Amino acid sequence: MKDINVLVINCGSSSLKFQLINSSSEEVIAKGLCERIGIEGSQMTYTPAGGEKYETKTPMEDHRTAIRLVLDALVDKDKGVVKSLEEIGAVGHRIVHGGENFASSTLITDEVIKAIEECNDLAPLHNPANLIGIRACQELMPKTPMVAVFDTAFHQTMPQEAFLYGLPYHYYEDYKVRRYGFHGTSHSYVSRRAADVLGKDYGELKIIVCHLGNGASVSAVKNGKCVDTSMGLTPLEGLIMGTRSGDIDPAIIEFLCNKENKSVQEILNVLNKESGVFGMSGGFSSDFRDLEKAYRAGEAFAIRTMQTFAYRVAKYIGAYTAAMNGVDAICFTAGIGENSPFIRTMIASYLGYLGITLDEEANAKRGEEIAISTPESGTKVLVIPTNEELAIARETAALV
Ligand code: ADP
Repeated sequence: MKDINVLVINCGSSSLKFQLINSSSEEVIAKGLCERIGIEGSQMTYTPAGGEKYETKTPMEDHRTAIRLVLDALVDKDKGVVKSLEEIGAVGHRIVHGGENFASSTLITDEVIKAIEECNDLAPLHNPANLIGIRACQELMPKTPMVAVFDTAFHQTMPQEAFLYGLPYHYYEDYKVRRYGFHGTSHSYVSRRAADVLGKDYGELKIIVCHLGNGASVSAVKNGKCVDTSMGLTPLEGLIMGTRSGDIDPAIIEFLCNKENKSVQEILNVLNKESGVFGMSGGFSSDFRDLEKAYRAGEAFAIRTMQTFAYRVAKYIGAYTAAMNGVDAICFTAGIGENSPFIRTMIASYLGYLGITLDEEANAKRGEEIAISTPESGTKVLVIPTNEELAIARETAALV
């Protein structure tokens, strides 16, 4: 692998996460976060490897200002980690929606920017922010190659029967209304790692990845290709999430508009931001640590919420086992998947039909790639910490 420093940028509508990663050692040289961009109270946190964390409160009117501050911090003579911007060999941008235009990562050119713009309709909150990040970096580092890594790309191998909705076909032809799926970088990284951990050929395995974080999705990866995933046209479909509803009867939207005298947009806002485990727990919390505490204290709202969450995950595992005609390994990843033995146990309690039993001691461990099923388990259960930034840095280094 080449030896370059890759700046990984993940631009949200008002935030910007970054990591500088060396492509050869795969070490994180510095990382940080700009928050409240364009809003009062902007602040940046910046942590150089092995150093202390710096917090700077400074106005950031737009993403360009934020990126300027990030670059200044990276080359700062006291807290910086590189002497000049020339020591940054490439920038990898996380792009949320690549539509059907991108089935893999790509070097950013004017045509690529245009093709990303064409997907703005499909991700109106995310793609424009991603594009602002690209343009700001291009302005400040005009000679540095940039790569777009798409959240949707890994799922582009899904067959028609998995990506089509039961809608008039011309909606797909006219507007590209279909299932796309997200978290692709994570599903790809984790499924590949699973093959390594099992010491088996990635191209000969049936793997289910449960990415359970604040946003959550499941994917089915057969012989190294994604064949189904739970998120759809947008990230709202599928599992019950932190604040997103996941699958619901679409007729609920009109029903609630009438009952609550709200617009479709207002109800969609409820489905995205006030539902999921947050809404189900009566607004108690979207954080599983809080919910778990309340569950243990016997709170009915936490019990119903966590049971429904786990049941939905188990149903998707069942569906994807059917889709692949079997499953060799089930992987847990992201905030909840990596850190909650409790939720993993709840989900595994539905999987006896796969011959799965958990090794309680292994299941209690944290922060490592580990098999948490007993050696006798028919299907292996693994915990694989995800690392989307590293995956983006690898893809970027490979393309420049
Ligand atoms: P995202 O990247 O989608 O924002 P993460 O993958 O970082 O989310 O996951 C964040 C979530 O992980 C938190 O909201 C919390 O519910 C959950 N989480 C983190 N640590 C723990 C833990 N120790 N036990 C249970 N859940 C945890």
